[in-house]
Amino acid sequence: MRIVVLAGGIGGARFLRGLQQASRDADITVIGNTGDDIHLFGLKVCPDLDTVMYTLGGGINEEQGWGRTDETFHLKEELAAYGVGPEWFGLGDRDFATHIVRTQMLSAGFPLSAVTEALCDRWKPGVRLIPMSDDRVETHVAVTLPDSGERKVIHFQEYWVRLRASVPAEAVVPVGAEQSKPAPGVLEAIAEADVILFPPSNPVVSIGTILAVPGIREAIADAGVPVVGLSPIVGDAPVRGMADKVLAAVGVESTAAAVAEHYGSGLLDGWLVDTVDASTVERVEAAGIRCRAVPLMMSDLDAAARMAREALTLAEEVRGA
Ligand code: GDP
Ligand code: CA
Repeated sequence: MRIVVLAGGIGGARFLRGLQQASRDADITVIGNTGDDIHLFGLKVCPDLDTVMYTLGGGINEEQGWGRTDETFHLKEELAAYGVGPEWFGLGDRDFATHIVRTQMLSAGFPLSAVTEALCDRWKPGVRLIPMSDDRVETHVAVTLPDSGERKVIHFQEYWVRLRASVPAEAVVPVGAEQSKPAPGVLEAIAEADVILFPPSNPVVSIGTILAVPGIREAIADAGVPVVGLSPIVGDAPVRGMADKVLAAVGVESTAAAVAEHYGSGLLDGWLVDTVDASTVERVEAAGIRCRAVPLMMSDLDAAARMAREALTLAEEVRGA
């Protein structure tokens, strides 16, 4: 079975690990969000691609959910001693190596998709990981700074990591998305898929950004195969992160049902909500999306695998309908 998954960072990666356990001989292609990418210290950093690669490749810091295991921070300390920042973005010594290799290859003229494949040669994530686009797309967030009252558009990482999403997101803009093209292999994978899954990734700044690359949303809607998503919102709040803040920016309430309606029945065939949100199943189904309530907390690998099985079961149900 060929499965295509649109993934952000932590939510996407943990779900993917469950999917691999649930469906051992599936051929999985991951379309990764690159809207979180940022240039730091002259290096190209791709946080979501790396989180997927490290998580599936066994190199992730499990507690944190991002960055390398067994990490040290000498390089960053040395840079800080020169007064060179930013100090707010955590980059460890092991992680730096990935960004150096990536930047070197990009400078030599390789597209990001080829670079990602080369990095995956080492990590062997067991999936085909393709960035959504080889073109530069960077998510920016409009905010009003609390101290100065100044309205400013800042990089998503600055909003999330530096400001810790402490102020409202007034708008979310995937800069460059309109001019971008899907990376080689993205549309082909969607066209050849048997099932397309939206893991419990951020609906705005992860999956929303991937869908903002012209051609991807249309390809999924036209694929003619079941498209099933899992809610990242449980009990009217994100399980972790700032999905509520960026959902508010696009005028969507932080509920499992509202996120399903936001994707819409033109895109989604099936939607899983957590058992605590069982009362919203009816509302989702009224929107033309088949819905089930099952446990959606990825407390461990087995729990994530059970969620993946539920998603695949719902996909078969939708296919048969
Ligand atoms: P990021 O790029 O690291 O923020 O990761 P993603 O976009 O892939 O996923 C972030 C989303 O995953 C957040 O909105 C969380 O609410 C959601 N999430 C994280 N852990 C869980 C979980 O155990 N269950 C569910 N349902 N959602 C989760
Ligand atoms: Ca992310």
